[in-house]
Amino acid sequence: MRCRLDTPPYYAVPVFPGAHNTHGGITVDMKAQVLDTAGQPIPGLYAAGDVADVKLFGAEALTAAYVYGKIAAESIIEYLN
Ligand SMILES: Cc1cc2nc3c(=O)[nH]c(=O)nc-3n(C[C@H](O)[C@H](O)[C@H](O)COP(=O)(O)OP(=O)(O)OC[C@H]3O[C@@H](n4cnc5c(N)ncnc54)[C@H](O)[C@@H]3O)c2cc1C
Repeated sequence: MRCRLDTPPYYAVPVFPGAHNTHGGITVDMKAQVLDTAGQPIPGLYAAGDVADVKLFGAEALTAAYVYGKIAAESIIEYLN
C-alpha cells in the first residue's frame, strides 16, 4: 500500500544497522561448557547467548539465550560444588 507524504509536519529518526543475533560464535557443549580447538571442555568456562554457538538455528535467539543461560548457571553451580 502506498501512502502520500504531502502533509507536514514531518518527523525523522536516525536508523542504524544492527545484528539481531549471531550465527556462529564460541563452541559449547550441551552443558554450556566452552570447548577448545580439540573439542574438549575448558574447565570453569561457560558461554550462552549471542556469543555462543548453540546450534539452534531456526530457534528464537532469545529462547537460546534463556535456555543456555539457565543451563550455564546450573553447570557453574555443579562445577563449584
Ligand atoms: C532490534 C533487535 C530485535 C530483536 N528481536 C528479537 C526477537 O524478536 N526475538 C528473539 O528471539 N531475538 C531477538 N533479538 C536478538 C536478541 O535480543 C539477542 O539474541 C539476545 O538479547 C542475546 O542475549 P545476550 O544475553 O547474549 O546478549 P545481550 O542481550 O546483548 O546482553 C549483553 C549484555 O552485556 C552487557 N555488556 C557488554 N559488555 C559488557 C562489559 N564489558 N561489562 C559488563 N556488561 C557488558 C551489555 O550492556 C548487555 O546488557 C533482537 C535483537 C535486536 C538488536
